[in-house]
Amino acid sequence: MASAMARQPKRSGRCLCGAVTFDMEPAEQHFDACHCGMCRRWAGGPALTVKAAVPPDITGATEIAVYKSSDWGERHFCRKCGTHLFVAAPAFDYFGVSMGALDDPSGLDFKLEIFVDCKPSSYDFANDTTRLTEAQFLEMVAGSAQKD
Ligand SMILES: [Zn+2]
Ligand SMILES: [Zn+2]
Repeated sequence: MASAMARQPKRSGRCLCGAVTFDMEPAEQHFDACHCGMCRRWAGGPALTVKAAVPPDITGATEIAVYKSSDWGERHFCRKCGTHLFVAAPAFDYFGVSMGALDDPSGLDFKLEIFVDCKPSSYDFANDTTRLTEAQFLEMVAGSAQKD
C-alpha cells in the first residue's frame, strides 16, 4: 500500500512521572486494541497501541524496564511510576506505543481489534473495526514476516 509509506507527523508522549519522554512517528494514523489475556492483565484492560514506523526517540531510556512476556513479545514500562509505554515484537519488526502515553491521540482512528476470541463477554467496543481472532492474527503476522 503506497499510502502506508507516507510519513506521519511525530507525536510526543511521556510516562506518568515524566522520567521517560518520547517522540514517535505512527506507521499509520490509527491505533489497535489487543484483547489477549496477557495484554489485559498487563494494561488493566485491552491494550490500545499505535504502531511506530521506526523506534521512538526516547529521553530517559535508562528508566525503562523490559519484561519479556513471551517467546516473541516484550513490554516496556517506567521503573519509577509503572506506566506501560511500549509493546515490542522484534521478530515481527513490530514496535507499538501505548496510546494512553501519548500527549494527544486525537486524529488516530480505531481500526483493528485482535485476539477477539480471547475477549471476555463483559465488554465490547462500539467502533466499527476489523476483528481478528488469535488464529487469524497469527496467520496475518506470519504472512507479513515471510514478505522479507
Ligand atoms: Zn515514569
Ligand atoms: Zn495482547
